[in-house]
Amino acid sequence: MKTVQNNTSEETTVTIIGAGVSGLTLATFLQKAGIACIILERRDRAYIETRQRAGVVDARAVRMFEQWDLADKLLAGPVANTIDYRLNGDSRIFNIPEEDGISSRFCTQQMLVGNLMRELIDNMAGDVRFDVSEVVIHNEDGVRPKVIYSDASGSHELVCDYIAGCDADRGISRTSIPDGVLTKYTHEFGYAWLAALVEAPVTGHPIMAVSDHGCVAQLPRGPHRSRYYLQCSLSDNAEDWPDDRIWNEIRLRLNDETIQNAVVHDKFLVPLRSVVYAPMQYLNLFLVGDAAHLVPPTSAKGMNLALYDVDILSQAILKAMRDKDESSLKNYSETVLPHIWNYQDFAVSMTDMMHDAGDLTQKGTFHQQIARARLNNLFNSKTAAHLHSEYQRGTN
Ligand SMILES: Cc1cc2nc3c(=O)[nH]c(=O)nc-3n(C[C@H](O)[C@H](O)[C@H](O)COP(=O)(O)OP(=O)(O)OC[C@H]3O[C@@H](n4cnc5c(N)ncnc54)[C@H](O)[C@@H]3O)c2cc1C
Repeated sequence: MKTVQNNTSEETTVTIIGAGVSGLTLATFLQKAGIACIILERRDRAYIETRQRAGVVDARAVRMFEQWDLADKLLAGPVANTIDYRLNGDSRIFNIPEEDGISSRFCTQQMLVGNLMRELIDNMAGDVRFDVSEVVIHNEDGVRPKVIYSDASGSHELVCDYIAGCDADRGISRTSIPDGVLTKYTHEFGYAWLAALVEAPVTGHPIMAVSDHGCVAQLPRGPHRSRYYLQCSLSDNAEDWPDDRIWNEIRLRLNDETIQNAVVHDKFLVPLRSVVYAPMQYLNLFLVGDAAHLVPPTSAKGMNLALYDVDILSQAILKAMRDKDESSLKNYSETVLPHIWNYQDFAVSMTDMMHDAGDLTQKGTFHQQIARARLNNLFNSKTAAHLHSEYQRGTN
């Protein structure tokens, strides 16, 4: 039977492309503030609610959710205030500094996303349109922006005041910006990590470990699962890493023969790279999260940087709508970028340090001791703790 095509044209204040963690958080804040917005998402709700990624919401983001009176609803999970850094099996537990008395929280990204969906769609009647395709942005000087998209019922037009590009690295928002406007800053580390989601929880503290066999990390992903990251070669692929090899390497790198094999749910290679696109805006389009910047998983910060962008952009939109003052919107990119670069600095130095110390062909055992000294300094000295919390806080 032929579907009747129902083409529509509507108005809203903010069109948000992408219902990932940044799009949903932005929409929830705007909806709470009474600002009309519509999210367009190319996947279905079930897919997004089960997508496994980050595991910790940092202290700055916890504070942001508290300020919106949403922390209790959205952030399940205990505080995350320690990390176990190991050097050839020698374990030291470091305290992650609090920020103004607030600690990070263990809350998986899919748990946060699921809670945001319930709050936005089920409790606040927010408008999220799943399974859309052919999203096209029209963002020209002097003309009200519009977004065209298709779904099963036809082709639709959304005329709006602002567009938030929350559609990550492979979305259409950034690529809609004319050539020559953005500068891409990129750094390829030259090595990869194997990411493996396993049916075994973190039993003590999250672990980052350097050994003569390479580095390994174990980060929590809910009460029953964790994700292991294993430094590997850029030329490897997932088939080079059968499950037995993964577990043997984990035991070797953590110097712990008691670790048992468990189910490996998925595994893939992450070539380590850092990317920043600047400026993060063009006319009435604002790039948010992975659409504008990527950090290597060593820093465990991608989701938290996306939440930082949302914090700044939501306040700027509120000011524009409530006070008819667009100055913060105009300065969005300039406000956000110093914070992003601070994290890139942190991510590059952590990644290089972990990698070089774990690869004896690079810098040898000398570098392992430097790694230990740096970690001690990072978490123990007053100056370094302050620096670390400045990294957490950003530069706003
Ligand atoms: C395996 C893995 C582990 C990670 N671990 C951590 C961690 O430990 N800590 C941390 O802080 N971060 C981590 N990250 C990074 C973090 O997940 C991302 O930085 C975060 O999801 C960025 O949020 P976002 O909203 O910008 O993008 P996303 O969450 O990717 O959302 C983008 C959305 O846009 C949609 N979309 C794309 N194109 C279109 C289109 N054309 N039209 C409509 N919709 C579109 C996508 O379907 C998606 O739903 C990890 C990432 C991965 C992949």
